[in-house]
Amino acid sequence: MSVSLITGGNGGLGLAIARGFLEESAVNQVWLGVRARRDKAEALAAQFPDRCQLVTLDVTLEAGWSAAIAQIMEASSRLDVLVNNAGHHDDTLLAMMSDSQWQEVLQSNLTGTFNGCRAAVKTMMGQRFGRIINISSLSALFSPAGQTNYAAAKAGMIGLTQSLAKEVARAGITVNAICPGYIETEALGAMSAEQRKEAAMRVPMRRLGKPEEVAAAVLFLASAQASYITGATLKIDGGIL
Ligand code: NDP
Repeated sequence: MSVSLITGGNGGLGLAIARGFLEESAVNQVWLGVRARRDKAEALAAQFPDRCQLVTLDVTLEAGWSAAIAQIMEASSRLDVLVNNAGHHDDTLLAMMSDSQWQEVLQSNLTGTFNGCRAAVKTMMGQRFGRIINISSLSALFSPAGQTNYAAAKAGMIGLTQSLAKEVARAGITVNAICPGYIETEALGAMSAEQRKEAAMRVPMRRLGKPEEVAAAVLFLASAQASYITGATLKIDGGIL
């Protein structure tokens, strides 16, 4: 039995990860962190009424984290797994990048992950158990032009993961990062059909990834089988890098 919190819970990857936990065991509980949109998260929660709930959470706001963790502890009494999945990109060349484009991408991806880790670690330390999985990106390891803000934020998440893993290892908490390549979700919505085809041609497997293929890795890192894996970065990219 596990209690998980997945941020960005209305997005493609968040929903697939949540469904993975819910289908893994009939006693697993999932909290979906939602900010603006909540329609798909509500639909998933309706399918698992006793075990899947929404919690309002803008990951950039520290107060939001305290309230969310308090709500989860009140209802579920523990928090085993935190998946820092919320994030967005806003691509443009550095010379054209506004302060707000830089700040907001750093905030949602990197500061959001910092806030989440800090809030969850306190609870997990008390439990002497926890699994934190940070959804970074292939852009952190193999950074394309036009993503200086996103690549820096996602690379920062890997540094944070490695450092925090060492701090909490003795408390039974593991901290790992996942770097997805091209995964078919709304995050790729700005790409035309032609651009998707071109992207697939850059992948040795000649196809984009499915959200379920990332969810499977998250489930593994949260499992007992992954108990000696911490500070790791796992890329899931069909062989691009
Ligand atoms: P989606 O755009 O489908 O979902 C992103 C989710 O993050 C949305 O639910 C959005 O909520 C939420 N979000 C954004 N900013 C915040 C915030 N400040 N507070 C709370 N929630 C927020 O994208 P994916 O599901 O594809 O992406 C999930 C993660 O995976 C992201 O971190 C992304 O960078 C990463 N990733 C995705 C890849 C892909 O190819 N799809 C590749 C590599 C990494 P709202 O409705 O409020 O906007």
